[in-house]
Amino acid sequence: MSDLIETLRRLQTVDAELFRLRREQQQKPLALEHARQLVAEQQANAQAAEARLKALQVERKQKELELATQEAEVKKLQAQLFQVKTNKEYTAMQHEIDQHKADISLIEESIIALLDAIDQAAREHRAQMERVAQEQATLREEEAKVAKELEGIGRQLATLEQQRQAVTPMVQRDTLSAYERILNIREGLAMVPLVKESCGGCHMVQPPQVVSEVWLKAKLVTCESCNRILYVDDATNDR
Ligand SMILES: [Zn+2]
Repeated sequence: MSDLIETLRRLQTVDAELFRLRREQQQKPLALEHARQLVAEQQANAQAAEARLKALQVERKQKELELATQEAEVKKLQAQLFQVKTNKEYTAMQHEIDQHKADISLIEESIIALLDAIDQAAREHRAQMERVAQEQATLREEEAKVAKELEGIGRQLATLEQQRQAVTPMVQRDTLSAYERILNIREGLAMVPLVKESCGGCHMVQPPQVVSEVWLKAKLVTCESCNRILYVDDATNDR
């Protein structure tokens, strides 16, 4: 029986490492999710900056069309100015021309303001695109790093699986499946030492009868609270 406990403890050492590595294997790719999210967010920022730039460019085209229309109108009225017959008509037409010229100045001012805004929006768009490239480079670096780490984990897992297969034939099928059931429920920790009179897993104080049974090593004894298999660790117990 004490041989069986020793075998199970060896198995537990391998299994604890297997559980730890499998957890890592699952969690590693999650770190990439964050970097992927940053790329997606930055791409959205860049798209928004591009949309703002395009909207300003459309506005500028509209203003230039307006300007051309107003200028054509002034030219037309100036040509008509020589054909008017009365002073009253002349004054009215001159007034109309002045109105158009005032409108033209306003449009020209807004075009100048738009050119500034377009410059600024174009700079902002370029900066956002550079940030996209940066985030993408970071993501690629992290992807390469995680891939390398996962490769290492894969190799370690293969080695541990081999070690496990060398030990499991030494344990009876029923005992092995009982151990594995506890191992899975308790996430990789099925064998725990007795620490004084307490379970080394859940720290519950064990009844005296359970403690002596663990010391007797005549059968496998489990903690009444967490169901883990208890053993005496000679290194930590001196009785
Ligand atoms: Zn326990």
